[in-house]
Amino acid sequence: MIEIRNITKTFGRQEVLKGIDLTVEKGEVVVILGPSGSGKTTLLRCLNFLEKPDDGTVNISGEQVNCKRPTKQEIHSLRKKTAMVFQHYNLFKHKTVLENVMEGLIIVRKLDRVEARVKSIEVLEKVGLGDKLDMYPSQLSGGQQQRVGIARALALEPEVILFDEPTSALDPELVGEVLSVIRKIAAEGITMIVVTHEMGFARDVSNHVVFMDGGVIVEEGKPNEIFRSPKEERTKQFLKRIT
Ligand code: ADP
Repeated sequence: MIEIRNITKTFGRQEVLKGIDLTVEKGEVVVILGPSGSGKTTLLRCLNFLEKPDDGTVNISGEQVNCKRPTKQEIHSLRKKTAMVFQHYNLFKHKTVLENVMEGLIIVRKLDRVEARVKSIEVLEKVGLGDKLDMYPSQLSGGQQQRVGIARALALEPEVILFDEPTSALDPELVGEVLSVIRKIAAEGITMIVVTHEMGFARDVSNHVVFMDGGVIVEEGKPNEIFRSPKEERTKQFLKRIT
């Protein structure tokens, strides 16, 4: 469903992505692992053109974009197929929980306010925030704010949800509630790509693990293959350090 070919990205003189190829099937939960600075977040952001890749192609369910010469229309269509959950939630501070979720449905999906409200309440209930609709982000814990971020992505019914280190800004005691919401939506068969350092989560929720280092995919496979019997020395070293 997602196919990226030979994606490259350079910041200044630093080549951050050195020709990435990746195929993701519909319904897969892909986890991207790797040391800090290996290009994981940049790869995720290249998928929806929050960063424009220098070269290569991105294809999400039939919308093929040539990264060298993307048209505005192509980028727009690609973005409509994705939704992103950010490390720092990126909520509108002056909007309530409900308004934060409704916003995208009204602006991007062109739903009327009544439809947007119904859909938003439905997804907020799914992430366990049905009783917080009229609160403002500052009145919520980090875990609750991130669950609003997840509800906002879910409401858009994208082809794929991109999670950029969704729990790394949270106090340790709040990580569990966010991971359990992600687990729940993963079980519904929504395609997702998750950059994370949560190894337990990667092991039992993903069905495709990608290990990156130095701007390349060093190794990828089923979680069992990567965690139990990694082939590449760099993967072995990384897993030894982190687990
Ligand atoms: P990871 O997610 O694996 O930690 P990133 O994709 O965030 O890695 O970053 C990879 C490299 O690219 C890092 O060296 C980082 O400093 C650099 N980088 C990322 N974004 C930018 C940017 N907007 N401008 C300049 N350098 C960047």
